[in-house]
Amino acid sequence: MGNLDRRNFLKLSASTLVGLTLGGTALHAVAQEQVKADDPMAVAMKYVDKSAVAGANCANCMQVQGKDGEKLRGCNIFPGKLVHADGWCAAWAKKA
Ligand code: SF4
Repeated sequence: MGNLDRRNFLKLSASTLVGLTLGGTALHAVAQEQVKADDPMAVAMKYVDKSAVAGANCANCMQVQGKDGEKLRGCNIFPGKLVHADGWCAAWAKKA
């Protein structure tokens, strides 16, 4: 491989890597989008971003995933989506 070929090869590899990384990030973003109010599951479960039920919200629900303190968290009821820590839905059950 000549010097020039080698340089082109390296350039190609670098841009391919960037492309793959961006592609992965985009897929991740799609899989982790926030639950929308018009999501059929959200409608069925009466999900809201801001709980109107005293003492009950996604952050203290047994279905929530992720870490305490995070504003947007995964939920077993909404696979691949994110719910708001202050949110609520009809499946709420107090975390033990
Ligand atoms: Fe929030 Fe409902 Fe998921 Fe519990 S089940 S974390 S209340 S969306």
